[in-house]
Order: sequence, then C-alpha cells, then structure tokens
Amino acid sequence: MRAFVLSRYGGPEGADLREVPVPQPRPHELQIKVHAAGLNPVDYKFREGKLKVLYRPSFPVILGNELSGTVMAMGREVRGFEVGDRVFTRVDKFAMGAFAEVACIDAGLVAKVPASLELTAAAGVPLAALTALQCLRDELNVQPRFRLFISGGAGGVGTFAIQLAKHLGAHVTTTASPRGEALVRRLGADEVVDYTQARFWDVLKDMDGALDLVGGETLERSFEVVKRGGKVVSVAGLPEPETARRDLQAGGGLAALFWLASLQTRMVGRKHGVTYRYKFMLPSGTDLALLADLLSDGRLDVVVDRVFPLSQIDQAFAYLESGRAKGKVIVSLGETP
Ligand code: NDP
Repeated sequence: MRAFVLSRYGGPEGADLREVPVPQPRPHELQIKVHAAGLNPVDYKFREGKLKVLYRPSFPVILGNELSGTVMAMGREVRGFEVGDRVFTRVDKFAMGAFAEVACIDAGLVAKVPASLELTAAAGVPLAALTALQCLRDELNVQPRFRLFISGGAGGVGTFAIQLAKHLGAHVTTTASPRGEALVRRLGADEVVDYTQARFWDVLKDMDGALDLVGGETLERSFEVVKRGGKVVSVAGLPEPETARRDLQAGGGLAALFWLASLQTRMVGRKHGVTYRYKFMLPSGTDLALLADLLSDGRLDVVVDRVFPLSQIDQAFAYLESGRAKGKVIVSLGETP
C-alpha cells in the first residue's frame, strides 16, 4: 500500500510517498481502509522534530494523526463494530499512521461516522473537534452565558471551538482577519476583533475565560482580557506541569521540565490572577461518538477548506504551514472525495 513516510526530522524533503506492507490488526484493533486523512499543525511540528521531548518513534514512520474510512477487518477482542462500518478516529498520538491506504487502530479510539456526513469531511473532525471539546468542557467548564474569548477562530480548531462554545451557551468573542471574519460569524461568533486592525487586549475585558489557539504574544495578552479568578487554556503555548501529569501521565522529570518551560507564562497569569493550563488533547472514541451525535443533525458542522489527493500531500502540507487555512485541510485517499 502507499503511505507518506518520514525518514528523518527536518523539512519536507525528509518525507515521501512510498510502498509499505499492509498492517494487520492486533486483537483490540480495527483494520481500516482509509478514505481520507486530516492535516494538522502537529504533523509538521512532528516532522520538524519539535515533539521529540514527548515521543521518538523509530524511523521510518508513517505520518498522520486523524482519518476516516471503512472497517475491513477486526481483531478478535473488538466489540461494537462490523466490517463495512464507516468510521473516523484521532489515532494514537504515539503511533500516528493516518496518511496510508490502510491503518490499524485501537477500537477504543474509533467512532462511527453519522450517515449524513460524507467520509472526506469526516476525516477533518477528530483531532480539532476533540481538542475544542476537551478544552471547553473539561478545562474551561463553559456554561450558559460564559464570556469566552477564542484567539484564532478561523482555523481547524477554532471553527469547531466557536460552534461547540455556542452549543454550550457561551457568549463568544474571537479574533480573525478579514479573510476569516465572514466564516467565524457564520459559525456563531457574537463578536469579532479584526486582529490586523486592532489589538484585542485594547478592546476586550472581563472575559470568564480564554481559549488560545495562536500562542506567543497572543497567549500572553489573553491574560489581560480575562477577569481575576478566570482561566486561560492554550493548545499553542508552552506545556506546564499539569500537561505532564494529567495529559501525558508522565513522571516528575517531565513535569519539572514543563514547570521551567512555562514559568514566564505562569508568572504573567499570576500577575493578573488568572490560571494557566496547557492542554494536550486526548484521543477518545467515546468523546468522538458524542461529536458524531452533534454532527448527525447539523448542530455541528465541519468547515473543509481544501482537499488534496494523496499524490499532492506536499502541497497540502505547504498550504497548512502557510498558517492561513480556514477550517480543515484534508488529503483524499479514496476514489471519490
Ligand atoms: P490552523 O493552521 O488551522 O490555524 C490557521 C488559522 O489561524 C488561520 O485561519 C489564521 O487566520 C489564524 N491565525 C493565524 N494567526 C492568527 C492570529 N495572530 N490571530 C488570530 N488568528 C490567527 O491551526 P489549528 O487551528 O489546527 O491549530 C491551532 C494551534 O493549536 C496550532 O499551534 C496547533 O499545533 C495547536 N494544537 C494543539 C493541540 C494540542 O493538543 N495541544 C491540538 C490541536 C491543535 P488568518 O489567515 O485570517 O490570519
């Protein structure tokens, strides 16, 4: 089968499309004929070696972190799925393997795609939507009338975060450029700050919480717009000790490293009386089934920006790496996108 394989850390030249053996399912796995796979910034960050501190699989390794497809075969311990089921998954983050014609995935990370959702779009759901759900529900505890600030609302995670926050009853303010403003308003954003014209920290205040999808100065300034006692949750900043303990179940060494890495950010938070949390999302078939339910009747929508054939995966990476994607970038492995 064809797969997009990384041989060494670095630029795009370290990865190529090549023939590899078809994987066979272990007892707890589904063997999935991949229809499409979503791209995410984690794919190029991994390729560049930026996640070495978290995991170092042996090379060569098949890239790709989320996919949709149909079940071809199942391990003997799998329950609740049948051959032919249309499924999607955020794959095991320490295994990857989504950019391939066939993938074997732990059944606990897989959910069924609702009949109303076509498989190509479904491939763009798992990673970004699970991230948004887990940040809003588990970290920010978003409730009706919660005043939420989301930075970077027009991207892969942001387009889900706006919709899920509205579903939870929040009042949503987000940043977007003129390129993304119409999109974020269509998804339900109540207020939009054009970050190319205004500094959000000059015009916003007293938010109950913030979800940072941009990092850097945007993250640091987010503490200024959240009221004392509130919380800033980032997926784009630097990890902190809770990331090691709660998201990675790691020991004290990694927690200490993350304590140091996040020191400045946490000090900014302390100055404003606002808690900092860096969330590393968790793959979950159970949470994905919950999202599938919202997708089934249109309460949640997938914004697909561009679909590339697998043969053009280099262009798909370049487009995502431009940082301008509106919604999700997807590679199609199936006959009919
Ligand atoms: P995308 O590449 O999809 O985001 C692109 C979008 O960001 C574009 O629409 C762009 O809008 C917008 N954008 C860029 N700069 C700014 C800015 N300064 N202010 C506001 N908007 C901006 O990324 P994702 O949404 O997929 O991911 C966002 C971040 O979250 C990444 O760093 C990713 O690695 C991280 N992440 C972390 C996870 C975790 O578990 N920790 C999980 C998932 C994602 P425009 O073109 O209009 O400027």
